[in-house]
Amino acid sequence: MIIVALVLRTTLPELEYLSPRSVEELLELKARYRDRAALLAGGTVLLTLMRLGFKFEYVIDLKRVKELSSIDYVEGKGVVIGAAATLRDLERSDVIKSKYRVLWDAVRQIGDHHLRSRATIGGNLCNPSLQADTIAPLMVLDAVVEISSVRGARRTPISELFSNPGGVSLEPDEVVTKIYIPEPPRGSTGSYFKVWWILGIAVLVSNPGDPRERVVRIAYTSAAPTPLAIKEVEKIFRQDRPLGELIKEALSVIKARVNPPSDSRASREYREHLIEFGTALLLRKLLIEGGDA
Ligand SMILES: Cc1cc2nc3c(=O)[nH]c(=O)nc-3n(C[C@H](O)[C@H](O)[C@H](O)COP(=O)(O)OP(=O)(O)OC[C@H]3O[C@@H](n4cnc5c(N)ncnc54)[C@H](O)[C@@H]3O)c2cc1C
Repeated sequence: MIIVALVLRTTLPELEYLSPRSVEELLELKARYRDRAALLAGGTVLLTLMRLGFKFEYVIDLKRVKELSSIDYVEGKGVVIGAAATLRDLERSDVIKSKYRVLWDAVRQIGDHHLRSRATIGGNLCNPSLQADTIAPLMVLDAVVEISSVRGARRTPISELFSNPGGVSLEPDEVVTKIYIPEPPRGSTGSYFKVWWILGIAVLVSNPGDPRERVVRIAYTSAAPTPLAIKEVEKIFRQDRPLGELIKEALSVIKARVNPPSDSRASREYREHLIEFGTALLLRKLLIEGGDA
């Protein structure tokens, strides 16, 4: 039997610390040093990786680039979140809490108060794990991510950022700069269920009482090799039938669509059980009990 010991260093290897003050300066540095430079946002993942032995010649700190820390909401259009906005900024934002409830509910379940004060939304999306807790909420909110480099900026739907099971698809000179979330459906709310490192479920609901206007969106992390939004359920919930029946129909479609992995944290069977349990819980709470996060 091979035993692998993970040794955390107490000191970091020598490297050059760079602290740009503008997006232009940041992108120039990333273009110059590419894979030799790591982006440092909150550092809650990066510093651990470096203590485990991952080596970079440079770190480029995003925290002093003011444009990357803002949360700007325009009524009727939506919100633009800078990639270096902290999870605590999101948790404290009235707009995120009232309009983008599913994201707010997920954020407040991440780590503890201290971690959320450092950790950023960009770092959450770009850390090597595809289980980060903001992914599924951003999928049900139809978020679009702005990816920038000296070659220009491109916008990509959040699901495409995670289309590769190996991790986030970024070129060595690229930086996630902003997250755009459109105005959510009128009167919508949402909730997030998670078993950390094992599964995340985001549900967004609006107009539960009116089948013609009712919107139900569901997305998962760790229910398939890459994050998964199950679009088929939207049609099911437009039917004018008792909500209990619609929930049952949706659960059978979801069961057929998911393909959760078995790994050292949980078996496929356990994840399947959690998917059914957690999804039913959220749907009942949001659709029938009129609950909230
Ligand atoms: C005790 C503890 C508890 C945790 N609990 C949770 C939890 O409950 N849920 C959860 O989802 N996570 C959790 N995490 C993981 C982590 O803290 C979060 O994912 C956090 O949001 C990472 O953000 P950061 O700003 O610290 O990222 P960093 O560590 O700064 O960066 C992470 C990675 O993303 C890259 N990166 C950062 N910003 C960008 C950008 N704008 N563009 C491109 N690449 C970028 C970095 O180069 C690095 O590779 C936990 C971590 C710890 C240590």
